[in-house]
Amino acid sequence: MPYVEVGSPTETFRHWGFGGRQRCSGVGDDGGGFGENLRFYFLFFALCLLPCRSFAEASHSAEAAHYLSKAIAAYDAEDYGAAKTELALALEREPNFAEAYILKGLLLNHDGQADEARAAFKHAVDLNPRLPEKMREHLEQQAHEVEQNLTEEDFSHFHLQFHGADQRAEAWEAVKYLDDAYNYLGSQFGIFPPEKITVIIFSTEEFWDAWNAPMWLGGFFDKRDGKVRVRIDNPPGGNDEMQRRLRHEFTHAFIHQLYPNDLPMWFQEGVAQYYAYANPSDSFWKDTRLEELRKTTQGAPWMDMAKIQDIIAKKNAPPGYIYLAYLESEALALYVAKEHGESWVPSLLEHLRSGSNFEDAFKQAVGVTPAAAMEQLRQSWE
Ligand SMILES: [Zn+2]
Repeated sequence: MPYVEVGSPTETFRHWGFGGRQRCSGVGDDGGGFGENLRFYFLFFALCLLPCRSFAEASHSAEAAHYLSKAIAAYDAEDYGAAKTELALALEREPNFAEAYILKGLLLNHDGQADEARAAFKHAVDLNPRLPEKMREHLEQQAHEVEQNLTEEDFSHFHLQFHGADQRAEAWEAVKYLDDAYNYLGSQFGIFPPEKITVIIFSTEEFWDAWNAPMWLGGFFDKRDGKVRVRIDNPPGGNDEMQRRLRHEFTHAFIHQLYPNDLPMWFQEGVAQYYAYANPSDSFWKDTRLEELRKTTQGAPWMDMAKIQDIIAKKNAPPGYIYLAYLESEALALYVAKEHGESWVPSLLEHLRSGSNFEDAFKQAVGVTPAAAMEQLRQSWE
């Protein structure tokens, strides 16, 4: 099964208008249950309904999707009037378009209509179905058809596939970031991927058409064919977000080439985010990012390893929990690097490659078990 990413939580967070300085207050604050706190509700449901979308039945028409993406662009540009007009057009074409109700909720909230906003979010969640396995197979088949007849170009470490001459510039741009990631991870691990990694470049629309992917999904790595698929556009986070997107997916491909066996989900996703954000020129980047994650997840229910594994692998939980599982995984990878040294990932990989199982390799590299590290993180956040 391909991993479906949440892209960059922070950028997505900003994308939906709850960025940076604004703090997500915890659900515990008002004594209400999970989802009672409005902002918390926004954060998780606005962000997390979407990743499930690619696993959901393709019920929206391309036209409705087109209007919704225009509405979101208008919302981003704070042109709320235009956002409402485009949104109405999307809902007219597709009355059961779950994502459209998220934006509706955001717009209602902007107008101060908190109850109506809450109802719109609830409706979005109600509309979001779970994916039947058959539907996913169908979508994937459809996607692979779109991937035929691509232009191909070989670079020293990557094999790129894209749609004709008009995407050549984007492909070259992507290779720049990919080469950076290649060199950075290669030097951290003291080893380079033995084989060229294939990266397929999509525009937003192609990506949407091919994978029925949520509009902000950045890309994913498919273990089964070892290829990275990534959407090249102008993400709200700009070039930084583009770079993180490529680094995240590259990390999956890199680790998979070094160690093709199964690894725990928290490790795969946490480490991909870790290297996506790594910034060797800022010696405080780990503290800054960890603090950001602490604030974002404050008040949210804590998950243990088994729960994270289950949620990321099966995507069968409410959307908010899926998002939370990614955030917690990233926090753990960061925390371990902060407390036990940055080389824990390369060292763990080395132990794995010489035959240890994950639990032992982690203990050899870090000194404690993953569960103990998780517990230390939880306590440090209390
Ligand atoms: Zn990932």
